[in-house]
Order: sequence, then structure tokens, then C-alpha cells
Amino acid sequence: MQALREGLREIDAVIYTHAHLDHVAGFDELRAFCWKKHAPLPLHATEGCMATLVKMYGWAFAPEAFASGYVRPDARIIYGPFRYGDLVVTPLPVVHASVETIGFLFEYRDGPKLAYISDVKQIPDDTMHLIQGVDVLIIDALRRAEHSTHFSLAEAVEAVGKSNAKEAWLTHLTHEFDTETLEAQLPENIHVAWDGLRISL
Ligand SMILES: [Zn+2]
Ligand SMILES: [Zn+2]
Repeated sequence: MQALREGLREIDAVIYTHAHLDHVAGFDELRAFCWKKHAPLPLHATEGCMATLVKMYGWAFAPEAFASGYVRPDARIIYGPFRYGDLVVTPLPVVHASVETIGFLFEYRDGPKLAYISDVKQIPDDTMHLIQGVDVLIIDALRRAEHSTHFSLAEAVEAVGKSNAKEAWLTHLTHEFDTETLEAQLPENIHVAWDGLRISL
């Protein structure tokens, strides 16, 4: 329904951050994006995340079970940075619950950089180094109260400061936030993201 709302007719690939249900349960909806595609759809995930996808959606990964209309995955394990044309995508390991989790850094050579870290409780030094001074940082800010596996609002704001990101957008927000109230309380370079937000670099 979100893809329909946003007029998303085609996708080049899917990249997964981790195998929590709120990030992988839409898998079967990828069918519609495979109908008109002649090649399988590239799915990028860490080894652990891919193993969970295979376990959950085994029918899609079994070539002998292929029926037209199914998701046709081209499973690609993420071992390090990968490219789409001139766009370089670098995985950003983070700490979030017990499941292996990554964010992504998107960059063009000598161009702007955007980091996306949707689920995080702790950003390791190596990852913090990779996102230093990014033009845009999209970051987890679950709620005001502390949480065992997600950044609270205060932790997210602190991480934005540490990263020296020029601009940041808070995401993975609970219903406990009122967007306008929150936006008014944030530093000038931090904003509240919304479903369907498009950011141009
Ligand atoms: Zn998660
Ligand atoms: Zn999540």
C-alpha cells in the first residue's frame, strides 16, 4: 500500500538492514515488482539476514518451486561495499538487539553522502568514523524514554552531534511523538522524517 501511495512502479534492488519482522515482513509484496522484470530481483543482505529470509520465505528461494507471479530473488550477500552504477553502498555495522544489524552509507565519488541507520542502540567507533561529516544522516529515535535496543531521542541527538552530520532526519519513531511539537524542539539541522519523505542529494 505504501508503494502504491508513493507511485513506486519499479525497483532496482532491495537492501536489508536486519531480519526483524518490521523490516522483512513485506517480502511477499515484492511479487508485484517481479511480474514485469525479466531478471531476478537483487536482494542484498548480510549472511545471517539472508539465512533468515530463506527460512521464512523458502518457497521463493527454491528454483524448482518457481511459479510465475512469485518473488524471484537474486540473493546477494553483503560482505562489504557494493555499487549501483556510480552509487557506492557501504554497510555500516551497528549494535541493535541480538540480531546482526547494519545501516548503509550511500555516496557518489566526490559527491554528497547519505547515511541510513534505522535500528540502533550503539554506533561502534568504526561506523562513527565512516559517517563523519555526512551531508545527511537518517537515524533511529524510537521515543523519549530509554529503550534496550533503540536510540531514545536524546541518544539520537547526541549521535547526530558526534557524527558532525550537516543534516539529520529522525526515523523509526513511535506514535508517542507529535511531529509538530517534536520538530519545534529539535536543533535546526535535525528534522522529523515522515512516510514517503524524499531526499535529493
Ligand atoms: Zn530492529
Ligand atoms: Zn525496526
